[in-house]
Amino acid sequence: EMSVEKHVFEADVAKLLHLMVHSVYSDKNVFLRELISNAADACEKLRYEAIVAPELLGSDPAARITLTLDEENGRLVVEDNGIGMSRDELVESLGTIARSGTRAFMERIEAAQGKDGAQLIGQFGVGFYSAFMVADNVDVVSRRAGSDKAWHWASDGKGSYTVSAVELADAPARGTRITLYLMEDAKTYTSRWTVERIVKDQSGHVPVPISIAEKPGAEPAQVADGTALWTKQKSEISKEDYTDFYRGVAGQYDEPALTIHFRAEGRHEYTALAFVPGSKPFDLFDPDRKGRMKLYVKRVFITDEAELLPRYLRFVRGLVDTADLPLNVSREMIQESPLLASIRKGLTNRVLTSIEKLAESEPESFATVWENFGSVIKEGLYEDFERRTQLLALSRFRTTVSDDGPRALSDYVKDMKDGQSAIYYLTGDNLAQLKASPQLEGFRARGIEVLLLTDPVDSFWVTTAPDFEGKPFKSITQGAADLAGIAKQGSETASSQASPTVAEFVSFAKATLGETVSDVRASDRLTESAVCLVAPEHGPDRQLQKMLQGAGR
Ligand code: ADP
Ligand code: MG
Repeated sequence: EMSVEKHVFEADVAKLLHLMVHSVYSDKNVFLRELISNAADACEKLRYEAIVAPELLGSDPAARITLTLDEENGRLVVEDNGIGMSRDELVESLGTIARSGTRAFMERIEAAQGKDGAQLIGQFGVGFYSAFMVADNVDVVSRRAGSDKAWHWASDGKGSYTVSAVELADAPARGTRITLYLMEDAKTYTSRWTVERIVKDQSGHVPVPISIAEKPGAEPAQVADGTALWTKQKSEISKEDYTDFYRGVAGQYDEPALTIHFRAEGRHEYTALAFVPGSKPFDLFDPDRKGRMKLYVKRVFITDEAELLPRYLRFVRGLVDTADLPLNVSREMIQESPLLASIRKGLTNRVLTSIEKLAESEPESFATVWENFGSVIKEGLYEDFERRTQLLALSRFRTTVSDDGPRALSDYVKDMKDGQSAIYYLTGDNLAQLKASPQLEGFRARGIEVLLLTDPVDSFWVTTAPDFEGKPFKSITQGAADLAGIAKQGSETASSQASPTVAEFVSFAKATLGETVSDVRASDRLTESAVCLVAPEHGPDRQLQKMLQGAGR
């Protein structure tokens, strides 16, 4: 006589499910990684809550994930003894799209369509709903730790789901049991050999042991021991192990561009395992996006909101594990702790030096990292004054001479012309538009390189970075261009002062334009065009003026 509530999926979930069900993506195995990673997360959340409420563990303290195969009925069951879900949590977590990343993913996949869309599914974790790639019905029975109620969620993935209370006898004592009613072409997921291989391949390093029962009621046998990868010696870890672990922690299915694994010893001790992703996450510029570095204390997951890295390194994924904090540390205490400051400093340095080394030893891999994350790293040029010089040296820029890839400032400075004292730049919305700018004429004529800056952050850092190797940054749209002292290419001498006719024109223009301009000057910046607008010497340059106007300031 227990009542069954029927709910309609949020519109975005319905769309996502439709994509899942009709996806032509061939590597459907990823659904198992997603379900196992959720099960492991649930065990970690319980471990954390049990620090202050040990009674939640009851008589069953050891975390575990069990897969039960049922070939006869074409079913696969994934069960954990983690935190479980209340009725409201079931509706919230499995009826809406909570992850901002998934929302961005949806937009991409809809824009991509067809085959590309399928590849996107393979590249990025899409969570619980991926179960519908292999199952035409999914049952979730869950009992939250410490609760005396259990709930049943069920759906065929076609727009709605039901929620009802179930007898405690029909639910796990604690945690979540997910039953997949496998589609005809997905029955292979009841094969012991297949499932064991997939688990070892893609989930061998989740920090909770995983067992497989060959049929309902059979004794489960362990296939992964739940040892934390980061506690092992580097020499014991293969590249595949790292990649596998990265995919779990990053929720991306690509290869990491950079793996950073080290143990800090001395006054503060901790282990860090961090990755620079091989491709761009969708939510990189989402203002709500949280950092993706997890903090563990003695292998217990504590929080992913400890801000272990500055915002401009928010693309780095991974974790830090330390024994130097008490397990029952509150999240507020963490923020204040000197250990955290020390970790943040040490980790930031390691990440930056690793990227620097990559730039030296593997310029092509570095180019990809810069392409993906350069616009984020550049935020550090105005957010992290202490490391500004280091970040400027790491930065690469398109310039008027950079046809074979972006250039380093050290190269720019090396190639400066005789008499040139500044690093010149031009900011704007896109490269083609910048390259066509008449402001460049005088610089081209003299063979002077100009940085072409098209990222929105560029307009901001250039105003706060005073110089590089003693050379100030100077917008070519601002003030006098000071080109008179530098010889034009193909001519021996520097250009002479403005002729009398030009002087006459200047006074005519001043008189005519009156208050609408602050000055009219003869300039060496043009060679073909007759006139152009420039911004005053001090204050925002032309692009920043436009951006500020656009922002209603
Ligand atoms: P994500 O794991 O990135 O949050 P998912 O789609 O995989 O996204 O899962 C959505 C949410 O459903 C999780 O955040 C969690 O709150 C809940 N959930 C899924 N599986 C479980 C589980 N086995 N135990 C407890 N909660 C779960
Ligand atoms: Mg998940």
